[in-house]
Amino acid sequence: MERNPEKNLKLGLFGGTFDPVHYGHINTVKEIHNRFNLAKTIFIPAHIPHHKKKPVAESVHRLEMVKLSVLGLDYFEVSGTEVIRDSNSYSFQTIEYFKKSYKNKIEPFFILGIDIFLEISTWKNYPYFFSESNFIVMNRPGYKDIKPRNILPADIGTEFDYNHDNSSFKHKSGYCIHYVNVTPYDISSTDIRERIKEGRETTGLISDKVSEYIKNNCLYR
Ligand code: ATP
Repeated sequence: MERNPEKNLKLGLFGGTFDPVHYGHINTVKEIHNRFNLAKTIFIPAHIPHHKKKPVAESVHRLEMVKLSVLGLDYFEVSGTEVIRDSNSYSFQTIEYFKKSYKNKIEPFFILGIDIFLEISTWKNYPYFFSESNFIVMNRPGYKDIKPRNILPADIGTEFDYNHDNSSFKHKSGYCIHYVNVTPYDISSTDIRERIKEGRETTGLISDKVSEYIKNNCLYR
């Protein structure tokens, strides 16, 4: 597909299980959104992520919690496209979906954490991604010893030029993978689910609205 990076809408695509959504998601993606000067960033809760075990909360709840946590942040949107798709959520289909929805007038930036990026070679159609979208890979506590130039799967390394100055890889298609340091938030959905189960505090980890929603719907008990 033809690219027009200067004229096209810079669109952030942030997929995840969001089981539940937390400040490690919201705050890091706010940073990315501003740093890359994105026009809009879309949160895309996954139906059944192919790379993870089944989520604990139903898709409708995860979608609703993401909607609650971006209220008032008008540069963020939430899409139910993967939740509605009644099958595994494949990211390549999601990128295609948004390109079609925007009549191919977007410059996509697929946002994900380093933990997920390191598993990318297990994703369906994975080498295809790099000629269809930019990637923004966020660092995450626990991964600080990884050298930026070593994050790419070995079998595709020759398709990229590495720029040492800004830890980015340029693909032969023109799209880039950016590996960026964001403010470290030592927060995970797994930890939050455990806390709720054990009746421990979640203040400062999830928003009050999400906390209330979890209580009202008896999630994670
Ligand atoms: P779980 O503990 O259930 O594995 P999680 O906290 O990793 O969940 P996901 O919904 O799987 O949350 O994450 C969605 C995306 O956000 C992933 O790409 C993940 O790497 C990234 N992410 C999640 N938490 C953080 C964080 N604290 N800092 C940076 N990136 C994060």
